[in-house]
Amino acid sequence: MNLRRQTVTASVGGVLIGSAHPVVVQSMTNTDTANAEATAIQVAQLARAGSELVRVTVNTREAAAAVPELIARLEEVGLSVPIVGDFHYNGHILLREFPETARLLAKYRINPGNVGAGQHHDANFATMIEVAKEFDKPVRIGVNWGSLDQQVLARLMDQNAAKGSPKSGTDVMIDAMVVSALESAAYAEELGLAHDKILISVKVSSAPELWQVYRQLAAKCDYPLHLGLTEAGMGMKGIVSSSVALAPLLNEGIGDTIRVSLTPEPGAPRKLEVEVAQQILQSLGIRQFSPQVTSCPGCGRTTSIFFQELAQKIQDYIRDTMPDWKVKYPGVEEMQVAVMGCIVNGPGESKHAHIGISLPGTGEDPRAPVYQDGKLLTTLKGPRIAEEFQELLEVYVER
Ligand code: SF4
Repeated sequence: MNLRRQTVTASVGGVLIGSAHPVVVQSMTNTDTANAEATAIQVAQLARAGSELVRVTVNTREAAAAVPELIARLEEVGLSVPIVGDFHYNGHILLREFPETARLLAKYRINPGNVGAGQHHDANFATMIEVAKEFDKPVRIGVNWGSLDQQVLARLMDQNAAKGSPKSGTDVMIDAMVVSALESAAYAEELGLAHDKILISVKVSSAPELWQVYRQLAAKCDYPLHLGLTEAGMGMKGIVSSSVALAPLLNEGIGDTIRVSLTPEPGAPRKLEVEVAQQILQSLGIRQFSPQVTSCPGCGRTTSIFFQELAQKIQDYIRDTMPDWKVKYPGVEEMQVAVMGCIVNGPGESKHAHIGISLPGTGEDPRAPVYQDGKLLTTLKGPRIAEEFQELLEVYVER
């Protein structure tokens, strides 16, 4: 992995975002914020899953009025996750009308593409920046492909046409996103907002364009960048698209906080997007949220479903019992566990892991060698292989 792109540090409700700090995982609720109880329940689920910031829609007076109750409810259950307000169209009105909400929110997201047109654009934007200054809050200038500032786009289209149209329409749109973000940031600073109170995002919905726009933006500023593929989609499509889109940029050191935007499938837990974001960072070796489990896909050599059951059991055990393992075991930088279906690749992978097991494949001696720190620790056999391996894992983690 390359070094992180150097940025200033922004503090969002005490969570530090920038190249000197770990990449922050964040997410967003999909409840009506006016329903403080439902929103608090979802914020709590996201925060407990590992979301270090949670954004909520603040789109109406009712939603703005509910933010203090939302935060009070979170405090009642001991949760202090910073809450970010997502504003579009009327943020300048709501932030002025609801000063307690403005005081309690940890950051304001401003979309320069929909704060108003013409003179209203600058005036409405300025109002939001004034409130941010008054309450000492950072802002995210969140440009989105789908709501790009039409004045900036028209200006760049004209300039491009005057040059004989050397660039494609897509390239001009990408330029316009970067220009909109940087001009808005410069205007915020002109209005007196500190340089380290500004974060930027420029979200699009396709991976190649995301790489293009973020690389361009990253080369032109040192603001911390919020990275995410917008409208990634549902289920597997959304997970794969987000992973493909975010990974190359993160690997180049671009991106200081990430959100994976998944359209929820009916009944799917909202926290899935937090788990996917964590797994992207963990797979890249950027952060580790829980011990990494290496398991083979299984094949005709794996006996019955015992192997899948053990792999699942170990994965669940690690997820459920060690969500805060980095806090609990502060000296432990990383940990890898291997659960392999047979001895073909099992001992090799187990030796590379901190602790690993190779289950007996079909036709093999029904014994399961366990390696720890590269050496054979013991060989398990009998009906309690899964339980005994779990016990060895617990002892290893405690040690
Ligand atoms: Fe099959 Fe063994 Fe390879 Fe797993 S390790 S995929 S069981 S050959």
